[in-house]
Amino acid sequence: MSKPTLMAVFAHPDDEAFGVGGTLAKYADQDCDVYLVTATRGEAGEIGDPSLATTANLPQVREQELRCACEAYGIHAPRFLDYVDGQLAIIHQGQAVGKLVRLIRECQPQVLVTFGPEGIYGHYDHIAVHRWTTIAYDLAADASCFPDQLTDACVPHQVSKLYFQVLPEELAGMMSQDGKPAAVMMDGVPFPMVGYSQKEITTVINIGRYLETKMRGLQCHASQFDASSAAEEAQQMLDGPLFRQETFVLARSTVGWPDGVETDLFRGLRN
Ligand SMILES: [Zn+2]
Repeated sequence: MSKPTLMAVFAHPDDEAFGVGGTLAKYADQDCDVYLVTATRGEAGEIGDPSLATTANLPQVREQELRCACEAYGIHAPRFLDYVDGQLAIIHQGQAVGKLVRLIRECQPQVLVTFGPEGIYGHYDHIAVHRWTTIAYDLAADASCFPDQLTDACVPHQVSKLYFQVLPEELAGMMSQDGKPAAVMMDGVPFPMVGYSQKEITTVINIGRYLETKMRGLQCHASQFDASSAAEEAQQMLDGPLFRQETFVLARSTVGWPDGVETDLFRGLRN
């Protein structure tokens, strides 16, 4: 195998932090090339700490926060698809898929990671990114798709494995309040978190050694948190066994399927 390369694709700066921050750091530490592609600069996010950003400069602030997080994880600087936060469901799908196909052809990852079909809690932007990335996985190897992109540095490429990052149902359960399922409020409407059962989860990455790195990544997204609840969540993370692992579902593979739960995104790819 050429140098192990991992590409993660998400919608907003900080989408990576809770679900895959430890995994990105772990593979970077194992000398993999790790890329993070983010569709927007998160300008529709709420400002947790008004001293850190204004509505006008939020896109620049969040871009810098994501750059800070990527440095913490030890991965390449973030790539942006340059779309507007909150509008991904109405973006021209072919154009967005083309941008991802180009990045896949340039970076040549063996492993691609994105949201599952539910986008963790049904966020329309997350679901759009899930769809684009899944289609890009299927098209990047086909020279007849987006042929105008092709150059010496941009060649058709078959990604070996596609993973969906998913929330284990135990973690969704821990986040529920007042007996109601955990949900994210968007425009006054609750979007329930979707948890996956142990039977559905194919891949568990142990990130115990990278918890502090993951925390540093999380702390970079300072405009999104209010400091008191962030400190509490941080302690929970360091204490709880569920936070010492990140969970995935293997959705496509050219190198077979695991018999049991696998513990390495590159299983079947290493010499
Ligand atoms: Zn998001």
